[in-house]
Amino acid sequence: MSSPMSSPAGPPTTVRKPVHRRTFLSGTAVAGGALAVTAAGISPATAAATARADAPAAVPAVTVRPSDRRYADLRRGTNQRWVGSPDQIVLATSTGDVVRAVQQAVDSGRRLAVRSGGHCYEDFTTHQEIAVVLDLSRMDDISYDERRRAFSVQPGAALGRVYDRLYKGWGVYLPAGNCPTVAAGGHIQGGGYGSMSRRDGLAVDHLYGIEIVVVQADGTARAVTATREPDDPHRELWWAHTGGGGGNFGVVTRYWLRSHDARGDDPTAQLPTPPREVWLSEVAWPWEQLTEARFSRLMWNHGEWHTHNSAPDSPYTALFSQLKPFHRSNGAVVLDSLIDAGVPGAERLLQNYISEVGAGLGIQPQVRQYRRVPWLHATQWPGFTGPDPTVRFKGKSVYARRTYTDVQIAAAHHHLTRDDFHNPSALLMIASYGGAVNRVASADTAVPQRDSVLKYQVVSLWNDAADDDAHITWVRECYRDMFAATGGVPVPNETNDGCFVNYADVDLGDPRWNTSGVPWHDLYYKNGYRRLQKVKATWDPTGLFRHAQSIRPA
Ligand SMILES: Cc1cc2nc3c(=O)[nH]c(=O)nc-3n(C[C@H](O)[C@H](O)[C@H](O)COP(=O)(O)OP(=O)(O)OC[C@H]3O[C@@H](n4cnc5c(N)ncnc54)[C@H](O)[C@@H]3O)c2cc1C
Repeated sequence: MSSPMSSPAGPPTTVRKPVHRRTFLSGTAVAGGALAVTAAGISPATAAATARADAPAAVPAVTVRPSDRRYADLRRGTNQRWVGSPDQIVLATSTGDVVRAVQQAVDSGRRLAVRSGGHCYEDFTTHQEIAVVLDLSRMDDISYDERRRAFSVQPGAALGRVYDRLYKGWGVYLPAGNCPTVAAGGHIQGGGYGSMSRRDGLAVDHLYGIEIVVVQADGTARAVTATREPDDPHRELWWAHTGGGGGNFGVVTRYWLRSHDARGDDPTAQLPTPPREVWLSEVAWPWEQLTEARFSRLMWNHGEWHTHNSAPDSPYTALFSQLKPFHRSNGAVVLDSLIDAGVPGAERLLQNYISEVGAGLGIQPQVRQYRRVPWLHATQWPGFTGPDPTVRFKGKSVYARRTYTDVQIAAAHHHLTRDDFHNPSALLMIASYGGAVNRVASADTAVPQRDSVLKYQVVSLWNDAADDDAHITWVRECYRDMFAATGGVPVPNETNDGCFVNYADVDLGDPRWNTSGVPWHDLYYKNGYRRLQKVKATWDPTGLFRHAQSIRPA
């Protein structure tokens, strides 16, 4: 969410010992120039061009092995369900380090995975077959590249740092995710979105180019650049990084960001400017007052409002919200909202929205929060996992083109009010979508969902490994029943439009949970999958970069 917001679910708890915690509001070039950085060094012809990209590492790379005290920390990411057992974890600090580490993995025949912020939903960087983890968290520079007229962001830069540096340095921002600890590395190439996406689009709508370490068919690792310039011979590689998702083609070592409509040399004009301030509101309808009829009306109101107020030219593109129907054990259905305080009538628009979502219920929501906050401050709330570093979670995603069906609402109500399951941190997390996102044509980027108005997750968060089955089963059954009409998944049709690759969900490839006959890759990429496969065949012909849902070569 390129502006503030986040907005998490209430905090994790366990099935057995639920802990009620507070719900956070935050939530909310040189075209085609191949860089000859190889494991053998930088070739003289391109040394000048690569000097900045591969500046001598002031800080050397560190390799952590199982006997190292740091191993326990570094073998895992955010989701504590996944703990890897690699032989080594290489903490790179330069593109040269990355080339060398990739070359060594190729030469020794060991499986490699790359990690930037560690927020992957599934085990793509922790699978037991992975022998080498390339950790890019120390490659987090953010600067302005005059030659490309674009901001250079290294993959290890966490979004909170991206917002902070871009805003303090130049007064600009990137419309990206709401969680400040998600890193640019996996996030941007997955089509990152956030609370400002209705206003300014997706992160990839501002992606100018990438630097990426790839492995040629002869097994040589090298860094190349790919930009959106029409005459860039590597343009398809750039396109594949506008939504293809991480871990597919190589190791991205740098993103360059510049908006399509940016002109001139002034850095402050190369990316959008965020709001100066935002209004934040949090209201809640207690479950004890929500009959099934009222819950249905609330959901219907919410879906209808988004169906009619999410066009790119709507005055409501300044508004973003997350409806969070928590499991009944949490006590309430919560609506977090945020609006650019600078738009005419901002408070009136916000209040109209809240009124329309609650219309006809016959009960007034509790107002938990209503305040005006400077934009940068509003970007720093934790994401939906909250501040607890021991959380485990499972999420499943949906793009929606219009309001929910009666079957979806009834299934959601059933699972949210089940007595045999108890978790205040199980919920639907329903984000406003559309607006500027829908200004972009479906094939212009690798995010084909360009007419949705809502994007949401069925998600559960908990702490105890012994409770894994109960939580994962709840998420699976709720999602399956909501999409019972289409084989248990949101098959693209007039209501739904598939799933979000940044919320990876391996169940989409499991016939027990996807009986639709539509493969996982078509749920994420729709018709774009064939094009991504061709890019894969060109740039990773040996399939070195792979995981459970990686793109297969054409
Ligand atoms: C708490 C939380 C909040 C979130 N909020 C949002 C949100 O608001 N909006 C949104 O769009 N998404 C959100 N996400 C999803 C997030 O964008 C994705 O999980 C993203 O892939 C995470 O990137 P990472 O670098 O932090 O994770 P990692 O686990 O490091 O990487 C994720 C995947 O990308 C690959 N990868 C990482 N770095 C590179 C690289 N440099 N080159 C090639 N491949 C790479 C990894 O191998 C892995 O397959 C959230 C996730 C969490 C856990």
